[in-house]
Amino acid sequence: MTPQEAWDAVLGELQMQLHRENFKKWLQPTRAISLNDDTFLIAVPNTFYAAWLDQKWRYQIKKTVASVLGRELDIKFQIGQQQPGPAESQMTAARLDCPQTAVTLPAAVSNLVSRYTFGNFVVSNNNILAHSAALDVAQNPGQTNNPLFIYGGCGLGKTHLLQAIGHTGVAAGLSVLYSSAEQFTNDYVASLRCHTVDDFRSKYQSPDILLVDDIPFLCGKERTQETFFHTFNERHNASRQIVICSDRPPKSLTSLEDRLISRFEWGIVVGIAPPDVQGRLDILKSKSANLPIAVPDDALKALARIPFRNIRELEGSLNKVTAMAKLSHQAPTGELVDNIFRDIRPAQKTEARSPEKIVEQVARYYDVTPQSILSKKGGRSANTIRHVTLYLLREECQMSLSDISNYLGYKDHTSVSYGLNKITSGLSRDQRLKETVHKITEDLHTATA
Ligand code: ADP
Ligand code: MG
Repeated sequence: MTPQEAWDAVLGELQMQLHRENFKKWLQPTRAISLNDDTFLIAVPNTFYAAWLDQKWRYQIKKTVASVLGRELDIKFQIGQQQPGPAESQMTAARLDCPQTAVTLPAAVSNLVSRYTFGNFVVSNNNILAHSAALDVAQNPGQTNNPLFIYGGCGLGKTHLLQAIGHTGVAAGLSVLYSSAEQFTNDYVASLRCHTVDDFRSKYQSPDILLVDDIPFLCGKERTQETFFHTFNERHNASRQIVICSDRPPKSLTSLEDRLISRFEWGIVVGIAPPDVQGRLDILKSKSANLPIAVPDDALKALARIPFRNIRELEGSLNKVTAMAKLSHQAPTGELVDNIFRDIRPAQKTEARSPEKIVEQVARYYDVTPQSILSKKGGRSANTIRHVTLYLLREECQMSLSDISNYLGYKDHTSVSYGLNKITSGLSRDQRLKETVHKITEDLHTATA
């Protein structure tokens, strides 16, 4: 195992422990230099990183190294060559000084991460609508779906889809600007300071396709919202495509002006829900195909059963399994997966998946009371509601059949497995049922996002 492989295994673990932004900012740009009996030497981009990691994350890194490599090591940081960071973070770097042109004009192609293409995007029931809307916009920009507004929790593929639209546009010879609401704000402030408002306007007006990531950044920033409003109107009038990403639907952007929110709803609004077991398996299969080491189906299935909420965690888990398999000279089996993740499974359960939340959300969807779901009274429609509930309890909370039976007051678990079968087989042929389950799952996660 090379130092980099060992460090990758440590990073896989840290990715699951740390907040996404912290991981992306502080750990993603690091790489291993050397590893000997007592020291792990890590390259970082500059002295600031070295000091920050040393003060804030040394303990956690040390602990993780010890748990992954099985021995205590001293961690040292050294300034080294930086790995190219994600385009996203490079682009949000604030530039409030005045270079020759305050507003850097778009270099459309280099703004896009090369692997964020439609070809690399795994379509599953959690993202099928967002994917097809994105594809439609990419092929017919500025036409019916303008703007396209994509929302969903962190790490569910919004930026990936956004940039996939960009790649398709660039390939068709269109000009594309991928930006974030933060970059938009910085550009605007810089253009005021340096009297280059025209450059600013042209940067955001002229591209055929404008992709704006992380729109909630505008919340509470009235002047920038005003500017965004004008940018939006001018582009919309000229039938130039706008695509916006957000972690919440427009209506939940509470400190955004109403007129902006209503404009966001002019075109099409689509959500991406966290993947269910099948969705997670689809993604794991696709990602594992690119790994140097074969991961058998039973290991992938065992991983897919763990309720990771986003694709980043899923990717991290897969990397961790292959790294651990290598370290321990074992094949990456389902058993190894169970051993590695035994401890973190309960921690993954979030409030979104508590049984109470599920019953509450189902009740809201069908406009009945939670009590009516928990009691056995009622006719056929009540049965369907209870079946949908037990399906979600199983799917989202990984509850055992007998726990579900107790919770919903069934006689025994055979009634639960009957209900489960009904929903599972119904999902493959009944479009309405599919939409219902999809919508409740989506609400479940956006309600607590
Ligand atoms: P978001 O912007 O929603 O926070 P990203 O688009 O940054 O999420 O996705 C996080 C990671 O997961 C990226 O590496 C991305 O390529 C990957 N990813 C997300 N969804 C999918 C998918 N459906 N198929 C393949 N990879 C995905
Ligand atoms: Mg994103």
